[in-house]
Parts: sequence; structure tokens; C-alpha cells
Amino acid sequence: MEKNSDQDFRDRPDNIDASGQRKWVNARQPKGKWYQRRSFVGYTLLLFLVVAPFLKIQGHPFMLLDILNRRFFIFGQMVFAEDTYILAMVMAVIVVSIVLFTVVFGRVWCGWACPQTLFLELVYRRIEFLFDGNGRKGKDKKGGAEKSQFRFIAKQVVFIIISILVTNVFLMWFIGPEQLLKIITEPISDHLIGFSIMIALSFFYYWIYAYFREQVCTLFCPYGRMQGVLLDNNSISVIYDYKRGEPRNPKVSEGGDCINCRQCVSVCPTGIDIRNGSQLECIHCTACIDECNLVMKKIGKPYNLIRYDSFQGVESGKRSLLNPRSIAYTAVLVLLMMMLGFTAGRRTTIDVTLWRAQGTLYQQLDPETYSNIYQVMFLNKGSESLELTPKLLDIPTGEISIGSGKVLLPPDGKQKDAMIIKLKKSSLTGRETAIRIGLYSGDQLKETVTTNFLGP
Ligand code: SF4
Ligand code: SF4
Repeated sequence: MEKNSDQDFRDRPDNIDASGQRKWVNARQPKGKWYQRRSFVGYTLLLFLVVAPFLKIQGHPFMLLDILNRRFFIFGQMVFAEDTYILAMVMAVIVVSIVLFTVVFGRVWCGWACPQTLFLELVYRRIEFLFDGNGRKGKDKKGGAEKSQFRFIAKQVVFIIISILVTNVFLMWFIGPEQLLKIITEPISDHLIGFSIMIALSFFYYWIYAYFREQVCTLFCPYGRMQGVLLDNNSISVIYDYKRGEPRNPKVSEGGDCINCRQCVSVCPTGIDIRNGSQLECIHCTACIDECNLVMKKIGKPYNLIRYDSFQGVESGKRSLLNPRSIAYTAVLVLLMMMLGFTAGRRTTIDVTLWRAQGTLYQQLDPETYSNIYQVMFLNKGSESLELTPKLLDIPTGEISIGSGKVLLPPDGKQKDAMIIKLKKSSLTGRETAIRIGLYSGDQLKETVTTNFLGP
């Protein structure tokens, strides 16, 4: 990679040259305790990603984001798109958690848990180290430039195979392993759309991880761009101790502890120099911490010239995770989680939507009786089958009938039907009469719906 001047990082990302062309980042493989920790966490998360769609709890998927059927299984709990207030609250909790985590711990998500980093650094880049070497072992010191044709093609073939596998894992989260198996094993003509999506996604992943790579983080990811407003002097991040390191001097016995060897830059997957301070391209992967510690060991200086610390920590030696911003976000998060727990606890297992049949007002059946026709959608959000009987509450002389005769709902089942309500003239309170309908399973009242009955 062409070396940047000390000030170029102020004008453009380090993986772009002065003419706007991309500079390929050939990061070396780091070595050290942070790399080991990160590998352990990363492979555990990847294992979860692969295994979770296969797990079941009481016959329900453990994790399934079934957008097509508007239902979601999260840790075995079924949430329907109709539970909009719960989904909105879950989203709010996730957003505030990310903000809080970023305010306190910086971009831990990017380096340790983001799928883009996990797949690129722990899967694709490791395959690349196998084929091209990592410079450390001297197998291919110029990165991609001197690869043999055969090695290059073999690596691309492995990348394509891995991309197809990644696509299958991704699809399982949205359609489940059973449906995926059908797409793979049944004739292509039966699953033309599913198969086309699979092929398109496989090539998309291949393009991302084989070619586009770290540019997802440096050019596109909106989260990286939020750092400027989220981080403050007390946020923990990967930071270079400029007080200890400066002035840089290649002579160990002179200047600060940094010997300007640029080993920290050589392992950086986004190609930046952490000594330039906090940058949006830094994904907090800790590779530079490990690499600099190896250098410190060799030259007999204390470890952690680059470390997890806050600007305040480097500047004054004082660190504090508690500050007004982190306390305020924590309070909001606790409040939201309490509200989420409360609303989830009050969630009913039945959802009923009732609307008037199109183009109808009321019908006069005889001089004393009127009827209204409605459309109704019953939804069973529970794990047991239900037979429901609708009854008019408050008006004992009224009658309700269901178009198909009865309401039978399997677990996760829906039934769309017609509902006819008949009321005596004496029960009407005007042109619109408010009525309540109770839905019973045996003697147990499961849900109550209100609507208006139109009369003359
Ligand atoms: S690895 Fe450490 S000593 Fe070498 S340039 Fe980076 S900060 Fe300085
Ligand atoms: S500067 Fe260090 S922590 Fe940041 S991306 Fe580069 S190697 Fe990772």
C-alpha cells in the first residue's frame, strides 16, 4: 500500500489515494491476546448465527424473522407484525443500547460483533492468509501483487463456496432451514424466486468480501459516521498514548516510546495509523494493540502504548465511566426495558381485527330486526389450537354468526371470515349503537372487541 504523508488522513480515507483511486489494504495477521479473545468471541457469535435457526423451543423456531408471513420468533417468543407497539419498543431498546454502549465503550460492536467484521476478519481474511501468506512468514510480502494465477483462482473458488454458505445461513434466518432445504432439493422451477435470490445474494457476498471489503466500514456504514457525536473524552476506545509515545524516534534510547516502526499500521484492516487520533475508519479491532505490544516487548518498554482507554485517561490518568451522558442514557434504557417488560406481559394471545363489509350499511330482516355484516380477521398468537365462540356482551337479545360456521385457529393460525350481527330494534340507541363482542374459548373470555352497529 502506498504510504500516506502524516497529514493525508485529514483529507481522505487512508484506503484512497490523492487521485481518488482505491488503495488495496493488505493487512498482516495480528498475533496476541486481544486477537485470541476477539477470535473466541467472534467464532462463538458465528456459531450462534449458524446454529440458532435450527433450534426449536416448544415446537417454535428459536430465531426466525419471517417477514413474508409478518411474524418473528425472537428467543422462541412469537411476535407478530400486529404487535407493533412491542416491535417498536424492541427497536427503541436496541437503538438506545447501541448509543449507550457507544458512549461508554466506543465501537466495541464494530470490532467484536458486527457480522461484516466477523466474516471479513475471521473467515475470508484467514482464508487469504492461507493462500497468500501474511507477510509475517514471508510467503508473499507484497500481498496480492505477486500471487500466482493458480493460487489466485483457487482462492476465488473458495471465496465463492464460502459466500454460498454465508447466503444459506442468512436465508435460514428469514425462511427457516426447512424452506431452505426445499429450495435446494426440489426442482428449480418450483422455487424460481427463492433460487434467484440465493444466487444474487451469493454473488453480492462474494463481491463484498472478495473485493469491496473494508470500504463497507470506511465509506458506507452510517454507524461509523455517528461516532463524532456519540464519543466524548470519557468514551473508552482504542487509543495511542501520545504522552508516552511522542516524540517518535527510531532510536529506542531517545525520544518517546514509539519507535515509528509502523507495525501498528501494517496490521490495521482499514489501513489507518492510530497515532493520528480517533478516526471514523477505526473499527476498534485491537490488532494494533497486539502488534505494538510485540514491539514493546522486543525493545523492552512497558506494554500498552496503544490500549483501550479514554482521551481523559491518557491526558490525566483519570478514567470515569460515569458521566451525565452515560447516566442519562442508562436511565432511558432502564425505563424503556421496564415498559417493554410491562407491555410484553400484558400481550394477549389473540388478535382480532373487525371492519365493516364494503358498501354495506344495515339490512332490515323483519319489522323488528336489523343486521350488519362485517369482515373479521382472527389471529392466534399462542402455541395451542383454539376454538373461539363470539358472543355479544351487554345485549342478550342480539345474535352473532360466523360465515364459515366456527372459528378454529391452529397455533400461529389466522382465519379471515364474515361476521353477521343481528339486533332487535329495541336494542338500538340511534343511528350508531356501540357494541362489545366477547371471544370465548369454552367459558373463558379471551378477548373483547368493540365496534358500532348501524341502524335506521
Ligand atoms: S507499533 Fe507502536 S512503536 Fe511501532 S509505530 Fe506503532 S505505536 Fe509506534
Ligand atoms: S487503528 Fe487499530 S483498532 Fe483501529 S481498525 Fe486499525 S488496527 Fe483496528
